[in-house]
Amino acid sequence: MKKTIVDYNLSNKKVIIRCDLNVPIENGVITDDNRIVQSVETIKYAVDAGAKVIVLSHLGRVKNEEDKKDNTLLPVSKRLSELLELPVIFVPCTRGKKVQDAVNNMKSGEVVLLENTRFEDIDGKKESGNDEELGKYWASLGDIFINDAFGTAHRAHASNVGIASILPNGIGFLVKKELDTLGEAINNPNRPFVIILGGKKVSDKIAVIENAVKIADYVLIGGGMSYTFFKAFGYEVGQSIVDNDSIEFCKRIYEENKDKIILPVDIVTGTAVVPNTTTRLTDSKNIGENEMGLDIGVATVNNFKKILLNAKTVIWNGPVGVFELEKFANGTKKLCEILANLRAKVIIGGGDSAAAAIKFGYKEKFTHISTGGGASLEMLEGKELPGIKVISEK
Ligand code: ADP
Ligand code: MG
Repeated sequence: MKKTIVDYNLSNKKVIIRCDLNVPIENGVITDDNRIVQSVETIKYAVDAGAKVIVLSHLGRVKNEEDKKDNTLLPVSKRLSELLELPVIFVPCTRGKKVQDAVNNMKSGEVVLLENTRFEDIDGKKESGNDEELGKYWASLGDIFINDAFGTAHRAHASNVGIASILPNGIGFLVKKELDTLGEAINNPNRPFVIILGGKKVSDKIAVIENAVKIADYVLIGGGMSYTFFKAFGYEVGQSIVDNDSIEFCKRIYEENKDKIILPVDIVTGTAVVPNTTTRLTDSKNIGENEMGLDIGVATVNNFKKILLNAKTVIWNGPVGVFELEKFANGTKKLCEILANLRAKVIIGGGDSAAAAIKFGYKEKFTHISTGGGASLEMLEGKELPGIKVISEK
């Protein structure tokens, strides 16, 4: 068992908490504050325990000076302050005198948020490359390190692995909840256990199938994942998205797991990913040369439903169609409805799948919506997450 924040006496200690406050921001306005909301419990616990709390997080990708203004954590510090009902002292840099002064002046129960850790990526990818000197510097600011950023746990960055390799460390409540819920589902599921894979990051997700067929009773495949299989079978896939490097893999894995891997039997096609495109319902073998598959059809929804009605554990990662467009939303909408009404443990991983569940009004109906799409996929792949591996055992 990993050490957690409750294993430490935090009183008067400088506690660095790595959160995942990487929320979508449009024109300076936060459009979904879920990750901030989910981070509050651990920060609040440390505040109440009398710690001096130093919060670190990344936001978006920062490649050059230009990217800085769209990726400042300033709006996040305001929202965090509202949710904590406490002032949050925002330091607009990631190192230097301002950081030192802010940390030195902290009193017990105060919260400081440093600027986006990825500002350190401009000069030689120091954050994302886990630069040793940067990890040491951040570690020098605190006494204890708590990793509560599940969304980056699959990456070895200076702000998680770097600091954790130096300071006494543990995980926060959010990471614990994620590891327990996902870990239980993956390692000790009530069966039948069904994994649903969709979305468009096909090359990332194909690797998951290899482990999914080992641990699950059924693997339902929809969305952009389907067409690489269809191409492997020699079907016409038209303009649908395909991962050409994975065709042989799909052929083999399907051959070996015909009873487990359930693919769409019908598809809703369009001629472009635009709202007013002409659509057509076709069986999976007859996609036109100029068409692209953009949703699963009703027969597929029914096939999926038959399997899901018996399921006791479900993990869903990736929408089964381009649900953002009305014409291709039906499959994902129906899938949400089916999942919401199951008497099973249902876990959603993946930012867009969570967005779909929220859009269609089912947010409260699931056992767990993960804050880390990539991290939950790596757990499904059977990999150990570097951000967690580095944390001490009890
Ligand atoms: P998640 O964030 O849940 O892990 P992804 O990021 O992999 O999911 O993919 C989400 C996106 O996949 C959605 O924006 C959706 O429009 C797109 N998508 C789903 N099905 C298809 C398809 N058949 N063709 C192209 N894009 C698709
Ligand atoms: Mg996504």
